[in-house]
Amino acid sequence: MRSGGSTSFVITLSGSDASGAAGLQADNRAIHAAGAFPLNVVTALTLQTEHGVESIDLTPPELVRMHLIGLLNTYPVSIIKAGMLGNASIVNVLAETLEQYPSVLLVLDPVIQATSGRPLLNEEGVAALLKNVIPRTFLVTPNLSELEVLAGRKDILNDPFERVAANDLLKTGCSAVLVKGGHRPEGPCLDRLYLSNDLIEFSSNRVSTRNTRGTGCALASLIAGGLAKGLNLENSIMTSKQLLTSSLEALAEFEWPGSGPAFL
Ligand code: PLP
Repeated sequence: MRSGGSTSFVITLSGSDASGAAGLQADNRAIHAAGAFPLNVVTALTLQTEHGVESIDLTPPELVRMHLIGLLNTYPVSIIKAGMLGNASIVNVLAETLEQYPSVLLVLDPVIQATSGRPLLNEEGVAALLKNVIPRTFLVTPNLSELEVLAGRKDILNDPFERVAANDLLKTGCSAVLVKGGHRPEGPCLDRLYLSNDLIEFSSNRVSTRNTRGTGCALASLIAGGLAKGLNLENSIMTSKQLLTSSLEALAEFEWPGSGPAFL
């Protein structure tokens, strides 16, 4: 970051996690680690403790719009990374803004539920994401449960169905779908990148740890930071997975009240 030259900015659109493990706090650590600079539009204030998500307060959509447009009009931003959006109104602010700034690429971590089970995006929000944002997205990074919700059916653990569900998302207009394999029952952590005419697999060690909070936030933000720095998609995913796996390994025994952060 400090070696001179121009700064690579990434706008994050995500919720604050007061505990610092997930959400925009994880995004910021990851974007810095990728060598880029995060600019934050805060979609929600959440309080999460060892007992789970204790409170969620969403930002008024018009305030989200004002912050997003204010940043886009000030900084030379090529990438937006979106995570928790909360409801359809905030999803639609993102969709409308993307229409206005067609050269900006979106990396979307389709955050639907916290690991503890509490919804972070309501049903209308999921519908708006599918209809208005995913068709305009460069990269979507669902885990298997998120892919199930987006596909509107269960049993995603079977490979042929995973392929159909990912290809259905591609057909709506997004350029790439990275299906994260952290929730697969066993074996290495295999992530699959579905492109319109290709499939690329990325494998990493499965790390046994309860410190997994913010894994999805960190991976999408690392990839977004890599893209902002000029890496191509495949290299950005490869580098990001290495950084994330090293962090998960280093923090595996880290003591934390409840489940701890995946990326520091
Ligand atoms: N964003 C916020 C604000 C969250 O609180 C969470 C999870 O609790 C997430 C995103 C998603 O986290 P993960 O990366 O663990 O899927």
